[in-house]
Amino acid sequence: MERETQGTTSTWPEEEWIPISALEHYSYCPRQCALIHVEQIFEENLFTLRGRSAHERADTAGTQTERGVRIERALPLWSAKYGMSGKADVVEFHPDGRIFPVEYKNGPRRERRHDDLQLCAQALCLEEMMGRPVGEGAIYSISTRRRRVVPLTAELREETLETLTAVRILLNNTGPLPEAVNDKRCPRCSLIDACFPSVVVGARQEKLRLSLFVAETIERIGLAPHLAALKADDSHRTSSIR
Ligand code: SF4
Repeated sequence: MERETQGTTSTWPEEEWIPISALEHYSYCPRQCALIHVEQIFEENLFTLRGRSAHERADTAGTQTERGVRIERALPLWSAKYGMSGKADVVEFHPDGRIFPVEYKNGPRRERRHDDLQLCAQALCLEEMMGRPVGEGAIYSISTRRRRVVPLTAELREETLETLTAVRILLNNTGPLPEAVNDKRCPRCSLIDACFPSVVVGARQEKLRLSLFVAETIERIGLAPHLAALKADDSHRTSSIR
């Protein structure tokens, strides 16, 4: 089924539209993206709870004007061209015609690529919806109350569209989930209890160890080729834990 946006029918079928938030999740960890958007698992942790309460104002739709700047909060966004949709925390419409999206984030003001990709995806939607270029936007740190301006460069746009394609492939893939990264991202991830990154990585390492052991054994005792193939195949079956 096709989706109609502002009188334009998208070439993307309904089921292939991508939520903008998925780009941020994918960029942070592809497995996290699959757990949320394929397995429909979402759990709160301290970081998401803090972020949610800090987001409350930006999540309430409304319009206000400050010093000539019209400010739209919780503005729905979509792109028929790219087949993605979502919501902008804040979009400023300046008197000189500038359109400036602002994404609210919990945490420090430091650069985080996944935030920038999400902001850029919002800008691509705004450009299509408003028919005007969006040159930059900002990530607003709720804890420090400061903005980090993000220029929407050609490189960032390209990376955003590449990420969108990767997300679309992931969400349409019926195969196994992406592998767990099991690194410093995991302690901050609200899905750590659903994901078991160390167990999953441990199982993968065990599978690798077993297949190496079988290969070494075959080489050492010189099994006939047809038995060797059967043996190697068996090692995958006994260790296919994910
Ligand atoms: S716990 Fe780690 S591997 Fe699992 S989804 Fe989160 S970041 Fe990814």
